[in-house]
Amino acid sequence: MTRFSDERYDVIVVGAGPAGSSCAALLARGGLRVVLLDKAQFPREKICGDCINPKCWPLFELLGVAATLRAHNLHVLDSFRVTSSAGVELRGTIAWDDRSPFFSIKRSALDTLLLENASDSGVTIHEKTTVIDVWRNNSRDMVIRASGENGIFEVTSNIIVGADGRNSVIAKKLFQKVGVSQRQYGAHGSLQKERRVGVQWHSHHQPQSGSGVELFLFESGYCGIVNVGDQAANIAMVTTPDHALLGKQNFSRFLEETLYSNPAARERFSSLVPMGELSTAFPIHPRFHRGRKQGVFLVGDACQTVEPFTGEGVFFAMQGGALVAQRILGSHTHRASFFPGRVRRPFWANRLSSPLLSHRHTANALVSFASRFPSLIPLVVRGIIR
Ligand SMILES: Cc1cc2nc3c(=O)[nH]c(=O)nc-3n(C[C@H](O)[C@H](O)[C@H](O)COP(=O)(O)OP(=O)(O)OC[C@H]3O[C@@H](n4cnc5c(N)ncnc54)[C@H](O)[C@@H]3O)c2cc1C
Repeated sequence: MTRFSDERYDVIVVGAGPAGSSCAALLARGGLRVVLLDKAQFPREKICGDCINPKCWPLFELLGVAATLRAHNLHVLDSFRVTSSAGVELRGTIAWDDRSPFFSIKRSALDTLLLENASDSGVTIHEKTTVIDVWRNNSRDMVIRASGENGIFEVTSNIIVGADGRNSVIAKKLFQKVGVSQRQYGAHGSLQKERRVGVQWHSHHQPQSGSGVELFLFESGYCGIVNVGDQAANIAMVTTPDHALLGKQNFSRFLEETLYSNPAARERFSSLVPMGELSTAFPIHPRFHRGRKQGVFLVGDACQTVEPFTGEGVFFAMQGGALVAQRILGSHTHRASFFPGRVRRPFWANRLSSPLLSHRHTANALVSFASRFPSLIPLVVRGIIR
């Protein structure tokens, strides 16, 4: 076994998504020795709708990446259109201020920027390094076993941040599972319809969508389409496991049975050929992990999965990373208070959106209701995108 590091780190962060990179950067800037481990090599893609909520901007400012992002020629999003499977359409505009727009960006670009920022902040980074185990040793240190390019190694610290996403190894190994178990659903069990899978791919730019977000409802789920820059469009869908599987086997039949079962979508988007692989997230709501362990923190998707429809996962990941960094630095220096603004929790509309959108009749009824009371729409949009 190769010992990767005999020197101690103050903090080991596992996972270099928005949660891990944000947390690691702030910890390093606060003077701690931090190592960040990720199994991927960046730039890497990540299943996502690629929509970034404007409330991320104070966090981008805090991290020092806002100016770089603004110089990125961002694809700003300013309107939306929702079409129910009954053909009822809801349209609206999205208000933002010039310095903090709602925008779309490929996660490969955003996450690489955040990782480089962590590196510039003094974090030691190891890509292509998969964490396979974690435990507390006899000296009360946390030990991480990982597999990297040079083989298996162990690294120790008395603080670990688990930012390793929805299938977090840190959460699985150290915390208790709660919530819905996958085993409750047999392959053809009665709850089959309740299971939801995320499917996402990039296709070529869709000029007819311009700077709008399009959402289509259909029998087995819903699908969002948004341009990401002027080269690509992101298509992110929530559907059943059977359809997700079909997507990988027979893409045109998959489209017929899902998105194109909504006639308006078929009419508007005649070609959504994937530019690469389809990504899937199964199930979209994995089991939560709860509990407390001294010196171990979970952030981002490792401790919560946020309904993707409203594009808030990245915000909650970065907010969680900043809050955990503040807490850790506070316990080291007794003075660390940098969190910008108030801590935000998911808006009620975000929490309700998943169950409502997942049931065709409720979703259609909601769109019909909202289309009759257009003055309500800006209020809901302001609550979600702010
Ligand atoms: C279909 C879908 C659409 C979505 N759309 C949006 C959207 O439009 N806007 C939005 O804001 N959010 C969206 N989300 C949610 C968003 O993608 C996540 O909330 C966000 O990526 C969470 O960030 P994170 O840093 O917690 O985890 P991640 O971004 O998942 O990063 C985790 C990192 O950990 C690494 N890792 C995992 N396991 C290990 C291991 N064992 N060892 C080492 N490294 C490991 C991974 O390689 C990865 O880099 C969507 C989610 C889905 C499923």
